[in-house]
Amino acid sequence: MILYDTSILEVGLMPETAKRIAIIPGDDAAPEAMSPTLALLRQLELPVEYEVLPDGEELEATTSRDERERLIRETVDSCDTVLFGVTSGKTGGIGYLRWGKDTFANVRPIRWRPGYRSPLREPDGIDYVIVRENIEDLYLGLEGHLATLLESGLPTESRFGAPVAADGDEGRYAIKVISRQRTERVAHFSCQLAQRRRKLGHPGKITCSAKYNVLWQSDGFFRQIVRRVVEGYPDLTYEEFIVDDLAQRIVARPQDFDVVVLPNLYGDILADEAAGTIGGLGLAPSACYSDDFAYFEPVHGTAPDIAGEHAINPTATILSAAMMLEHLGFDEDAQRVESAINETYAEADSLTRDQGGSSTTEEFAQAVISRL
Ligand code: ATP
Repeated sequence: MILYDTSILEVGLMPETAKRIAIIPGDDAAPEAMSPTLALLRQLELPVEYEVLPDGEELEATTSRDERERLIRETVDSCDTVLFGVTSGKTGGIGYLRWGKDTFANVRPIRWRPGYRSPLREPDGIDYVIVRENIEDLYLGLEGHLATLLESGLPTESRFGAPVAADGDEGRYAIKVISRQRTERVAHFSCQLAQRRRKLGHPGKITCSAKYNVLWQSDGFFRQIVRRVVEGYPDLTYEEFIVDDLAQRIVARPQDFDVVVLPNLYGDILADEAAGTIGGLGLAPSACYSDDFAYFEPVHGTAPDIAGEHAINPTATILSAAMMLEHLGFDEDAQRVESAINETYAEADSLTRDQGGSSTTEEFAQAVISRL
């Protein structure tokens, strides 16, 4: 079974300082976006080895789940970083990339570029970053039967005196955890990101948001910790909004934000909303950082409804690749990729369906490559 692309034969030609990038194409429509993104990366002729895994469908057909998880673990561990094309479960691997590698900060830049098909009347100037805590909150997956909760000795009445459920009724529960260390580190990460952006002319502002008016303990703790951490960065300003208010501000006043730090679930939901304001999910890249590792993937899912149509917009994957290049120290190449994207949108001659064009994924990517 050939699991690796023959491109690894390039290894012998590489200088010793070559970086190793794992390319994991992912599932459904995601590989259709990854394939031209890899072509674009190769076009840059960087001192990089690409270790390319098969797409989810092929992996599923040729390996057991355990073999796939082992393959991904070994591939990730043998590389400097990973460009991940999103999985709906076939490829898997997300557990290792997120919890195994402790990638606690999910960075989701929201930036409108001329030519993006925003539904807003005045999208000009939207340029902020959502930092989503990536490990805990409801994503620990601690769910169970209500009966177990009722037998656990935890309160069986709400704060307002109502029973957790009608007497004898069945149900399920989920546990939300906000812990000090994980909140502190994502808050510090956000502050340091705001400081770096400040040097580029951004205002140096942290916006914190959660449902702290209802979830006094958990979201209240998140707000309290973020507030305290930001106090240690006197060059930054700070504001906070209840999360439903933040949701409307993302639409009504998106130019006001700089760095927005959110607990896991709100970050997931609001980053999709924010992507909608600039023109859709096809345009939103992301990166997930731990202290010593990072991987890169688009914000969107696997777009199963358009799989096989070559209609998926690869911009989010290409811009995720640009974030990866910057992380590896290829700043100029990252800039080249971004400029090529900017030009392609400004010219608007090869846009994909979601942006009002009629070009295929490959035609759009080719237009970007031709502008590198
Ligand atoms: P998941 O559960 O993995 O998030 P989903 O289908 O719920 O999957 P998405 O895959 O993000 O969510 O897709 C939501 C909608 O946005 C779909 O109609 C999909 O086709 C569209 N979409 C997502 N990404 C893109 C893209 N890159 N280009 C064009 N359309 C996209």
